[in-house]
Amino acid sequence: MSNASNMNFVGVDLGGTNIKVGVLNDMGEKLAYLSTPTLVEKGPEDATKRMAETIHAAVKAAGLKPEEVAQVGLSSPGTMDLPSGMLIRPSNLPGWNFFPIRDKLAEYSGLPVTFAHDGPAAAFAEYWVGAGQGEQGLIVLTLGTGVGCGIVLDGHVWNGIHSHGGEAGHNLIDTSENARWCKCGQRGHLEAYASATGVANRTIEYVEAEFKTSLTERVRARKRNDEIPKMVFKEAENGDELAVRIVKETARYLAYGMVSLIHTLDPSCILLGGAMTFGGNATETGRMFRETVKKEACARIFLHLAERLRVDYATLGNDAGYIGAAGLARQEWEEKN
Ligand SMILES: [Zn+2]
Repeated sequence: MSNASNMNFVGVDLGGTNIKVGVLNDMGEKLAYLSTPTLVEKGPEDATKRMAETIHAAVKAAGLKPEEVAQVGLSSPGTMDLPSGMLIRPSNLPGWNFFPIRDKLAEYSGLPVTFAHDGPAAAFAEYWVGAGQGEQGLIVLTLGTGVGCGIVLDGHVWNGIHSHGGEAGHNLIDTSENARWCKCGQRGHLEAYASATGVANRTIEYVEAEFKTSLTERVRARKRNDEIPKMVFKEAENGDELAVRIVKETARYLAYGMVSLIHTLDPSCILLGGAMTFGGNATETGRMFRETVKKEACARIFLHLAERLRVDYATLGNDAGYIGAAGLARQEWEEKN
């Protein structure tokens, strides 16, 4: 990509809890950042108007004039239809069905808007300015409440024909009759095993089966299930056998999901991101998780691919959504100018 223009881009990351807005220059450097609560129950009109106000406030905070912004990128959860700019049935935005969010945001902000799926947007961020720079075949798996995925091939995100080209979290990894339920309503999907929710459920089952572990007290005293992955991480760092086993099992499940991805796409690199990365490269558990993912995947793929695959952590964290949205806006703007 060229860095010749002096234009700036705004990235918006629409989530179930917050709307994050970042202003970036042509090099992908952050000039300003603001966020506003999504307030899902107030509906999409209200949120889109506040989104536009936050964009204008962030542009001002960056010390820019409105005409110095070329384009806005909007990253949103699915389901959606990218060509028509519509939300279809976004599962964590109840009541927002069939809302023409791209064109509404363009109307309220006065700027052209590029519409993106959140998984591919996060992957594009890593390709543009994160750990995936220079990777011609990049897959980013985001481990949180679910397992998100984004694919960047030869510098372009793969959106699929129906706007859901990176849904590897729903790859089938367990074909048994009593496989775990995925929140999409099907059994045996990767997400039901390797997401934070999957880790929490598996941990609770071990504790209830009275495995000897330092997790027992903490898990029983939990307020919410989503606190559990952090407990598993802490106890794994302390050397608890069951916690280490849960981390390794999570790595193996993730590897199962990666095998078909690797044989289908032949990527150069797979990055792991999201809230559940067990401390990433900075901790012993994080490094063990990454190594186990790689080892378990490589044991099940062609040697020729195993010898060349890079598995590492994403580096942009919670900023990936709006950075990727801005990057995709920049790409669309450059292609039409
Ligand atoms: Zn599923």
